[in-house]
Amino acid sequence: MGDRWHVEVDRGVCIGSGMCVGHAPDAFRLDTARQSHPVAAETDAGERVLAAAEGCPVEAILLTLADGGEPVFPPEE
Ligand code: SF4
Repeated sequence: MGDRWHVEVDRGVCIGSGMCVGHAPDAFRLDTARQSHPVAAETDAGERVLAAAEGCPVEAILLTLADGGEPVFPPEE
């Protein structure tokens, strides 16, 4: 570990289920329109943030390595 991840939410895709906030309340927040936003553009790599991305029903959460930009989630085919 020790990696940093860049976090993005595709707001055209997010349906506001709030599951990401349930998984990683430190990393995601719903706005008044029930759209998810990353609390910070970068976060420490961690299971909760990954679980949030994996658990998003519409795959609106994109994680990439902050250093280099390689995809973390969704993984490269
Ligand atoms: S889990 Fe996905 S759809 Fe639900 S609020 Fe988070 S980003 Fe949006």
